[in-house]
Amino acid sequence: MLMCRDLARIASDYIDGKLGTTDTLSVKMHLLMCRHCRSFIGNLRESIQLMKGHSDYRMDEDYARRLDRAVEEALNNPGGS
Ligand SMILES: [Zn+2]
Repeated sequence: MLMCRDLARIASDYIDGKLGTTDTLSVKMHLLMCRHCRSFIGNLRESIQLMKGHSDYRMDEDYARRLDRAVEEALNNPGGS
């Protein structure tokens, strides 16, 4: 039987879908019975999605593009406008 501390250890793998069929089933069985772990998994999933959302955000590319444009404009107008 999967214990709460076992579940905490493999929770991120479970959310990422990296667990095997047997482990996934054990986690699901445990979640059916344990409200504590249900909310734990829920919170973990939310924070993982938040992190993934941040890494998908292409701030660097956008910033680099704006920087390029600013440099180009500065080169085309040496005296400033
Ligand atoms: Zn539990």
